[in-house]
Parts: sequence; C-alpha cells; structure tokens
Amino acid sequence: PTRSLADTVVAVTGASAGIGAATAHALVGAGARVAVSARREERLEQLVEELGKDNVVPVVGDVRDPAHNEALVAAAVQRWGRLDTMVANAGIGAYGGILDLGDDQLTEMVETNYLGTVWSVRSAVRRFREQGEGGDVVIVSSVAGFRGGADEAVYAGTKHAQVGLAGSLDRELRAEGTRVTLICPAGTATEFAIGAGRTEGSPELDDYLRPQDVAHAIRVVLEQPRSVRTTVWQMWSMQQQ
Ligand code: NDP
Repeated sequence: PTRSLADTVVAVTGASAGIGAATAHALVGAGARVAVSARREERLEQLVEELGKDNVVPVVGDVRDPAHNEALVAAAVQRWGRLDTMVANAGIGAYGGILDLGDDQLTEMVETNYLGTVWSVRSAVRRFREQGEGGDVVIVSSVAGFRGGADEAVYAGTKHAQVGLAGSLDRELRAEGTRVTLICPAGTATEFAIGAGRTEGSPELDDYLRPQDVAHAIRVVLEQPRSVRTTVWQMWSMQQQ
C-alpha cells in the first residue's frame, strides 16, 4: 500500500453482518481501529471478541436515527481522539413488485438505505471539519445504483440516491480534502442475498462475490493516497446478471 491505515480511525455502519463485518476485519487487519454500529448488540460484541477490545468500539443503535450516527462518531473520537473514515454500509433490501411491497417495507428501505447514509455521512463530515482536515467517506451502494431491475424498483432507487449523494459530496467537499468513494457490488453472499424475498428458496451463492472481496476493495481504496480518487468501484461477479 502507498498509504498506511495504521492507527487511522474508521466508523463502519452495518457491521454486525456481511460486508460491514468483513470490512471491520479487513481494516483492523490493515492496522486501523474501528467504531462499529448496528442494532444487534451480540453480533457487535462478537466482533469485539474476534478483533480485540483495543481495536473495536461497538455502538448499538439504529442508523435511521441521526443521534445514533452522532454517537457513533463521538465514540470513535472519545476512544481514539479522531475520525479518519466513515464507511456507510448499513442497508436492507425488500424485493417484490411495486404493488406487492407494503408501505412499511418501502419506508424502511428508503429511511435505512438513503436517509441512514445521509446521517452517517453528515456526522462524519461535521467531525472532519472540526478536525480542520479532510477525511474519507465510503458509501456501499450497489450495481443497482446504476441500473434498475424488475422487482427492485424502490431498492434500486435508494441505491441510485446514494450515487447522487456521493457524486455531489465528492465535488462539494474536495476542496477541504475529503474524498467520497462509491463501492458498488453485484450479488454478494451475505444474509441479505438470501433473505427478504430476493431469491426463491436457497440460492446458489458460489458465483456471488464474497463479503471479503468487497471489504478488500474498501481497504484498497483507503490505502491509496487521498489524491487518488477512485470515485466509483463497480464490482461484478461471474453470476448471471
Ligand atoms: P447484511 O444483511 O449481511 O448486513 C446488513 C447490515 O446492515 C447489518 O449489519 C445490519 O445490522 C445493518 N442494518 C440494517 N438495518 C439497519 C438499521 N436500521 N440500523 C442499523 N443497522 C442496520 O447485508 P450486506 O452485508 O449484504 O449489505 C450491506 C450493504 O451492501 C447494503 O447497503 C446493501 O444494499 C449493499 N449491497 C449488498 C449486496 C448483496 O448482494 N449482498 C449487493 C450490493 C450491495 P442489524 O440488523 O444488526 O441492525
């Protein structure tokens, strides 16, 4: 790597499973310390056990709550004195026809995937400005951020919204040294890929990306100097798309 992540401080949302948990592992493996957020406390405690309490601070809460995102950043700052990076990863997907999904499902998707990302990113940017220097924002969107698909209209909408957010903020914040990067995976073998009506029965996950593949991409982005702006990393797999 051209830029060491040793002793950098990262906040990761949606770290209790899948891509977020793999990202916590990858970044601690690269020398970073991580503040991790999700609703399931026992899963975050498991991360602390796996990665060591010197490297992980768990913050239990709901990404839809702006105050939770403030608390996540505050916990990182209290523990390690600063924040270098926000990985806005928490997300859900409910799949089905536009008339088949309930009001609650649609609202939860928009509030979690889009508004949750807005709150996470805003809390990080506020801290970067207080520190008087730039930072990194990584947003885990999807290949669905660039094209729609049957039975995923609202999900794909939330992922497109993240793309608009990232492209705009990268331009808005560049002058103060902040880099905004989109990581856009195709199907990844996580609980998300199995659940929520996305697949019938038990899907063949062999051709999917692995959460570790996505986590590695995030690590590589961050290990580039901030003058190197990846902007969008679309990750495809051998899966039929
Ligand atoms: P998982 O279901 O494995 O993990 C989702 C994570 O998000 C969990 O840690 C969950 O924690 C957290 N989360 C969900 N809702 C909330 C909430 N309201 N408040 C706090 N945390 C929440 O999914 P993935 O790892 O696959 O997904 C991560 C991201 O990757 C998502 O943004 C998804 O859209 C994106 N993605 C996934 C793909 C895939 O095929 N898997 C493909 C492309 C993109 P908890 O339930 O404990 O709160």
